[in-house]
Amino acid sequence: MLYIGSHVSFNKDTQLIGVVQTAIENDANVFMFYTGSNQSTLRFPIDKNLTDKAHQIMLEHNIDREKCIIHAPFIINLANNSDERKYQFYIDFLKQEIDRCIALGINNLVLHPGSHVKVAKEEALLSVSNGLNEALKENQNIKILIEFMSGKGTEVGSTIDELKTILENVIYKDKVYICLDTCHINDAGYDLNNFDEFLNEFDQKIGIDKIKCIHINDSKNNLGAHKDRHENIGYGTIGFQTLINIIYNKRLEDVPKILETPFINDQSPYKTEIKIIREKKFIEFK
Ligand code: FE
Ligand code: FE
Ligand code: ZN
Repeated sequence: MLYIGSHVSFNKDTQLIGVVQTAIENDANVFMFYTGSNQSTLRFPIDKNLTDKAHQIMLEHNIDREKCIIHAPFIINLANNSDERKYQFYIDFLKQEIDRCIALGINNLVLHPGSHVKVAKEEALLSVSNGLNEALKENQNIKILIEFMSGKGTEVGSTIDELKTILENVIYKDKVYICLDTCHINDAGYDLNNFDEFLNEFDQKIGIDKIKCIHINDSKNNLGAHKDRHENIGYGTIGFQTLINIIYNKRLEDVPKILETPFINDQSPYKTEIKIIREKKFIEFK
C-alpha cells in the first residue's frame, strides 16, 4: 500500500485535528509536523481533548497512526559535545520532544544527527549515540528516526557508514531507526538512478527494515553538491520518474513517504504533488 503525505503545520488552536484535516484535504494518508517552530524551543501544551478527537478522525479516515511522523527541531545538535551545558540542553529538549510525541500518540520522531563543527568526526558520531542513550528510556514506546543528511557544512550522517556507526553505539536498538531523504541522498553523492544499488549497500550494512520514513524531495543541486535545497517534484535534478521509481519501489512498500518540497507563491504544492504521485503522471504545476 502507498503511504503518501507531506509536512503540514501544527498550531496551538487546532493542534493534531488541524494536522489531520490538512492531510485529508490533500488526499494524504500519512503526515509529518513539527510540534512548534523548528528553529526554536518554544512549545505550547498538548491538549488531550484535541488529541483524542484527532485520533477518532484518523480512525474514520483510515489514517494509520503508526505511519505518521513528528520532526524534532533543527536546533537540537547531538553531534557537538564540546560545550557540555549546551549538549545537556539538547538532550533535555529531546526528552521533552519524546514526551510530546507520546502525548500526541505519534511515536515516530525524525531527528537530524547534527553538525560536528570542530569536534572530530568519530567523536561526533559517538556523541550522537550517547545523546540518544541518555534521552531514551527502556520502556518508552518511541522510535527515533535519524535522518540521512546531505553533508552540508559539517553535518554528520551523510553516508551509510556514518549512520551505521551511530546505530551500532545505541543501547536501545529497537528505538533507533533511519529516515531517508531523496534530496539529501542525491546531494550526499549517491546516484538515485541506481537506487537499488544504494538499497543493497544499505541493506548489507544496516538493514532495509531500519528504514521507517522517506522524505520525498527533488533537489535544486547536482549529485554530490552537499547543499540541501529541496525542489518541487519533477523540477529538480533528480526528476519525476526517478522519484516515482523510489516511491513505488517494492522493497519500501510499507514505508511512509513524506513531501517536504517548497511552497509556490505562498501556496502549498502538496495536494497537486500527491495527486501526480498517485497517478504516476507528471503535469506542469508551476
Ligand atoms: Fe529533516
Ligand atoms: Fe528531510
Ligand atoms: Zn533537507
